[in-house]
Amino acid sequence: VLSPRLLALTEWIPEGSRVADIGADHAYLLIHLAKTGRLSHGIVGELNHGPYENARRSIAGFGVADFIDVRLGNGLSVLGKNEVDVIVIAGMGGSLICQILAEGKEKLENAKRLVLQPNIGGRSVRLWLKENGFRLAGEMLVDDGGILYEALVAKHGEETVYEEIGELSEETLAEIGPLLWKNRHPLLKWKVEQIWNAKQRIFNGLQNAKSQTAIDKRRELETDLKEWER
Ligand code: SAM
Repeated sequence: VLSPRLLALTEWIPEGSRVADIGADHAYLLIHLAKTGRLSHGIVGELNHGPYENARRSIAGFGVADFIDVRLGNGLSVLGKNEVDVIVIAGMGGSLICQILAEGKEKLENAKRLVLQPNIGGRSVRLWLKENGFRLAGEMLVDDGGILYEALVAKHGEETVYEEIGELSEETLAEIGPLLWKNRHPLLKWKVEQIWNAKQRIFNGLQNAKSQTAIDKRRELETDLKEWER
């Protein structure tokens, strides 16, 4: 059975797609799609030998090896130029996701959608997408066993949602998720509280610090927290 976090991502994968899962570990997402008859073809990309073997073993174990290739390599380098419709990158930090996207930019040209699930640092992923010709087509929050996860789907195109909202800065919206905000996602309050608490903790930690960098950082956070208070 697929975890709620990975199951949520399948909503964004149209039936019959060619799908790459980069950093797939056990490849449960693609196995689920193949088992439910929704996968035309899958490619697992794995950088590390252990997870690469995990993927091979589980794919063979579930009898779906005809549907899914497993490739060892860094990020999008395992993909040909027009091999997949959907690229999934899930369960990693936002900066690693950005690095994988940036290093494999030419492989994104023919992909119709990117399904991304940053465990932390969603802000940097959203800003990267906006600056690199992608627009957000969907965002969601998932409660998986008491842990809050965020995920997004992006397509080629100009991003306009940040200007549409206007009431919050681009930086703040990129941290919250502009579509989560616009659509008042039911778990949004939980997410905003988490961000606020993290900022408050850093602010408190800097309370007695004397260095100029610390003082500057504290001022910056003060302004930031004021915007978040609204
Ligand atoms: N995607 C799965 C999920 O969401 O449950 C597994 C996430 S697991 C925490 C992250 C995986 O990414 C690891 O198996 C790791 O080996 C792989 N990984 C890390 N950097 C990578 C890279 N540059 N290219 C491909 N895979 C990478």
